[in-house]
Amino acid sequence: MRRMLISDVVLNGHRTDVAIAGNRFESIGRQSGASFDSVIHCRGRMAIVPPFYNTHTHAAMTLLRGYADDVELSEWLTGHIWPAEAQLTPEDIYAGSRVAILEMIKSGTVFFNDMYWDQPATAQAAAEMGVRAAIGLLYLSGDEGQTNPRSRRSNAELLELAPDLPDRIQITEAPHSVYTVPEAGLRAAAESASQTGRILHIHVSETRQENADCIARTGRSPVAYLNDLGLIGPNSILAHCVHLSDDDRRILAEHDAVVAHLPASNMKLCSGQFDHAAARAAGLHLTLGTDGAASNNSLSMLTEMKLASLSAKIRSGSPTEARDHDVFEMATAAGARAFGIDAGRIAEGLLADALLIDLDQPGLIADHNLESNLVYAADSSVIHTVICDGRVLMADRRVPGEDEILEQGRAAAARVRART
Ligand SMILES: [Zn+2]
Repeated sequence: MRRMLISDVVLNGHRTDVAIAGNRFESIGRQSGASFDSVIHCRGRMAIVPPFYNTHTHAAMTLLRGYADDVELSEWLTGHIWPAEAQLTPEDIYAGSRVAILEMIKSGTVFFNDMYWDQPATAQAAAEMGVRAAIGLLYLSGDEGQTNPRSRRSNAELLELAPDLPDRIQITEAPHSVYTVPEAGLRAAAESASQTGRILHIHVSETRQENADCIARTGRSPVAYLNDLGLIGPNSILAHCVHLSDDDRRILAEHDAVVAHLPASNMKLCSGQFDHAAARAAGLHLTLGTDGAASNNSLSMLTEMKLASLSAKIRSGSPTEARDHDVFEMATAAGARAFGIDAGRIAEGLLADALLIDLDQPGLIADHNLESNLVYAADSSVIHTVICDGRVLMADRRVPGEDEILEQGRAAAARVRART
């Protein structure tokens, strides 16, 4: 088993050594470097912290970054995004996913929960680039209310590929939303999730319109409706949850369901302001995500932490809401826990996922409180090294093969432009 030593690194304000054996943290405490296959010398100038777990995104949408900004949600979807997506090929999606994963690694993210088309291409990209991912079996209705033929085909391909994927990659059930999937499809996703133990991933209560339409059609809010259909439980990841009632929050708390909070996307599309204070008071399991790069337009969890905190403070009228430590937990340990990943903290025995933070950066001085600096001050230039599953994915800010990934992404974006 390969052993790696991170020597003289700052952990929780103290200098120490961190040893990794295989894909887990083996020990924390002073070591001699002699028995290790590799040593990273930090000389007290780098800190080790957990990396980020992005609990809701659409990775390949990097190809549509800046493609249609500053328009109404319905125009954005029906006039721009959906027509462009309809023409994306698996090759495009592979290229876009690789750009997304590169951007995520460079901004300290080692896991993403994805919902998109042609999923084998995204799964392949994640497998090759060494990150963790949850890739959704997409449920969407087609013209006749039947399962969309494109997603049916790529779901079958994903299930075929699944046995060859590394343990880092998990498959989820991903019905898109209550407004795009008929009741039979939602029930089928719930049934499959309960039979297989897979996580269930869905957009919920993103807009007022979604809530109003659901209430008019079913007599219930999206959360209450999904609960009656068996889609709300501890394995449910619910993206957005902007417009929740007290009853909705009670249902989510009772079932220990997971909320993926997406502050940038909610603000940019003007979906509304997530009520962080009410969610916290209800005891909800809160995690953080970026959504896709067409509605954010960045995949940086550092930016997302800051927005989560600032938007919660404005919404509640209290600067004590969404404290730095709580937001950092949402982006790290809470996200890992939601997906059953035994990581999210730097501790002996846990999976070896970590960031090495370069302390000689202006955004980190004064150095009274590293978590505060990471949430409120830092950009991704402070991230020196990224480790996932015991492997170094980025060293000294360089990811192997990044020039080719960018070139391929630029070519795919040019194809998208040429078709429209
Ligand atoms: Zn989304």
